[in-house]
Amino acid sequence: MTAYETASTSNPYLLLTPGPLTTTRTVKEAMLKDWCTWDEEYNRLVASIRERLVQLAVKTETELYTAVLMQGSGTFSVEAAIGTALPREGGRLAIAVNGAYGERIVQIAEVLGIPTTVVRFDERSAIDPAVFEQALRHDPSITHAAVVHCETTTGVLNPLAEIAEAVKRRGVTFIVDAMSSFGGVALDMKELGIDYLVSSSNKCVQGVPGFGFVITRREAIAACKGHARSLSLDLYDQWDMMERSNSKWRYTSPTHVVRAFDQALRELELEGGIAARQNRYSSNQRVLTEGMEDAGFSVLLPREWQSPIITAFRYPDAEFSFEQFYARLKKEGFVLYPGKLTSEPTFRIGSIGDVHPSDMERLVAVIKSNQLTFY
Ligand SMILES: *Cc1c(COP(=O)(O)O)cnc(C)c1O
Repeated sequence: MTAYETASTSNPYLLLTPGPLTTTRTVKEAMLKDWCTWDEEYNRLVASIRERLVQLAVKTETELYTAVLMQGSGTFSVEAAIGTALPREGGRLAIAVNGAYGERIVQIAEVLGIPTTVVRFDERSAIDPAVFEQALRHDPSITHAAVVHCETTTGVLNPLAEIAEAVKRRGVTFIVDAMSSFGGVALDMKELGIDYLVSSSNKCVQGVPGFGFVITRREAIAACKGHARSLSLDLYDQWDMMERSNSKWRYTSPTHVVRAFDQALRELELEGGIAARQNRYSSNQRVLTEGMEDAGFSVLLPREWQSPIITAFRYPDAEFSFEQFYARLKKEGFVLYPGKLTSEPTFRIGSIGDVHPSDMERLVAVIKSNQLTFY
């Protein structure tokens, strides 16, 4: 067994949710010590994490990019990126929305008083890059564009390359919420022209919750001094401190979570990097959907838009009780995720974390043999 295959035998159940997710025993064990923050060793660890994040996000000219870690859940980092990238005056953010996390970016901009142009798409479809480009072209006051890569609401994987082309043609700054895809879906920020990419410790890198991170072009973040509308969520200030003081955080850092994340990054490398992880997630997703379809459930999305991250299923009929289904499966050792769609009842099953095709086979077998109890 390699490290990443270590069974999480201490868990009461397998988390089939998109974060927090099932982590390896070795990732959890990295938290069994109280680490100090004030010495060289800790700073070196943080510096190395920042460097490795850039390496995962950019293939060439990595020296043009930098990573900033930020305390809090993923949303804190999205808010820090938006609130720091947009200038206090004269900016306008265009947001393509096809789910709850896109709506959250709209909400963040509104709270921060940032003017927005919102382009909404049906939650059951991907963002249409041509429609988004039209909106960008229509309003020359737009300075920044934001999209969610994998919309976790449904599991849609938005066509990032085509959206990036459209954004680049308009020459605006590009912010991507890659929260639930980074580490599990290969991408190259440089090739795509992404200026800010946001993710967090408890998604596809398979760490535990506690901080988020923003990978950005050095030139972009360096121009953002004084933009932030918040003290603690000032991404520029956090970056500046990390750059000038050997990767020191402003304010208390989540030391245990950082150690666990370092171990999680090691295990991502051991597994064979993002491509290998993407393959495993895709296998999980395939075994899951084939089995679920065989058990009479239908997948919400057409295959072309389906990400390997999380899958939404329709309720099989009007009598189906998600509460019964959830409770039964939890007892059998699997925790699922309720739906988040407004238009029709769905539930979701994640394929990320320390989860393997054999786990999906077990899940499907349990569902098939318990079907009568879901009513
Ligand atoms: C998980 C997630 C977030 C962040 O959610 P938090 O609860 O703040 O960690 C943001 N965007 C997407 C697409 C996500 O999947």
